[in-house]
Amino acid sequence: MIHRTRIKDIFSAPTSQSYTVMGWVRTFRNNQFIALNDGSTISNLQVVIDMESIDQATLKRITTGAAISAHGTLIQSQGKGQSVELSCETLEILGDCDAEVYPLQPKRHSLEFLREIAHLRPRTNTFSAVFRVRHALAYGIHKFFNDRGFVYWHSPIITGSDAEGAGEMFQVTTLNLLNPPKAEDGSINFKKDFFGKSTNLTVSGQLEGELAALGLGQIYTFGPTFRAENSNTSRHLAEFWMIEPEVAFFDLEDNMNLAEDMLKYLINYVSENCKEDLAFLEQRLIEEEKQKPQNERSEMPLLEKLKFCIEQPFERLTYTEAIEILKNSTPNKKGKFQYTIDAWGADLQSEHERYLVEKHFNKPVILTNYPKEIKAFYMKMDDDGKTVRAMDVLFPGIGEIIGGSQREERYGHLMKRMEEMHIPVEEMDWFLDTRRFGSVPHAGFGLGFERLVQFVTGMSNIRDVIPFPRFPGNAEF
Ligand code: ATP
Ligand code: MN
Repeated sequence: MIHRTRIKDIFSAPTSQSYTVMGWVRTFRNNQFIALNDGSTISNLQVVIDMESIDQATLKRITTGAAISAHGTLIQSQGKGQSVELSCETLEILGDCDAEVYPLQPKRHSLEFLREIAHLRPRTNTFSAVFRVRHALAYGIHKFFNDRGFVYWHSPIITGSDAEGAGEMFQVTTLNLLNPPKAEDGSINFKKDFFGKSTNLTVSGQLEGELAALGLGQIYTFGPTFRAENSNTSRHLAEFWMIEPEVAFFDLEDNMNLAEDMLKYLINYVSENCKEDLAFLEQRLIEEEKQKPQNERSEMPLLEKLKFCIEQPFERLTYTEAIEILKNSTPNKKGKFQYTIDAWGADLQSEHERYLVEKHFNKPVILTNYPKEIKAFYMKMDDDGKTVRAMDVLFPGIGEIIGGSQREERYGHLMKRMEEMHIPVEEMDWFLDTRRFGSVPHAGFGLGFERLVQFVTGMSNIRDVIPFPRFPGNAEF
């Protein structure tokens, strides 16, 4: 076995020694200079070829996209733009790549085009950077919770409960759709289905997370969730990953503190650990924004924006206070919002959330105590009987990044809300057991992982921060 040195490591390795590197050719200039990348870092290694010592047939096979192995001596670079280069002594082609048909040419491709060839996106600078940052965030999330004594809990992905009410669900079935078994009344007989009942893909691991928190104390989930909502926006996917901590003995304020601490920790974690990738993504964003009209460009470069979010406390206010601000805001009075805010009770749209964050407060915002009508059944009722202890964290450029609440731990109150909201109580008996036996105050939230990756990488479309995006009309690969 040949010992391969990763390109990331070679930049800090001692010179005047021999190394073998392997990777994919990004460019090949003057029949002499190969820019080689192996995915370990955004930086390419310059591999310098001695034309005399390499046969013509091999030389022709060094094309953009080809995989090669190169052995040689690491030397201080003569040229500009890199500190070291590999003076190549032997070169082997591992995998040819016909430049005539290879879709990735050494030029800038649009993100839309790259989405159509998502299977090749890991070969590009932008996507390799995004996916390294995505990895670092995932690792940071586990580290954050592990360091604080949380238990990683796996809520089921196929669920027999369809009572969450958070969104439309994808049904899971092995029944023959052309000729499903029927019950006497003509309806489909799910007793004959694989699980003996109707099942769906989960929209959230929260309810099962609550069961765990009321025994293990503090847990978090980090898994895929699925929503068959027909929202073709730059912030919605049909399959996305969610992080859902749930903590016993927590109230709404504890919950807000945890959410703010976690977001700041994660932003700080990637700022420290993904410096090169973030610098690259910042530059990419600056280039992209040059195409946009002045007023749509972001006011701060990416890294500054990340720092800005870590350095100050998030603004905390109630829904009621936010409605007052929005009602009296200039865009509302001038009819600039698509949905005018005229009364208490209105559901906030992304345009309103972004106004609060980007124009009014100019920092992340946590909105609390929403009207009960626009929130889920399990949120704890405030004493006024009108609002619930909900909290949404709103971020610049994103809008809602976290949704959470203190949960209704009182059996009677919860039953009343479930009946009012037509939640099938019989199917939820297992959930109600937590409130029957040793119920305690508890709280939790859901962080949309891709929205966090979007914020940190500055990518404007959520479809560009997950390897294989699923959205209405698309489940390629
Ligand atoms: P939105 O109003 O933006 O659709 P939501 O109120 O439906 O969000 P929740 O049910 O509270 O969201 O889910 C928790 C978090 O999951 C949200 O704050 C968001 O970050 C993320 N999220 C929700 N729906 C999606 C989706 N379709 N694609 C990606 N992330 C999502
Ligand atoms: Mn939604």
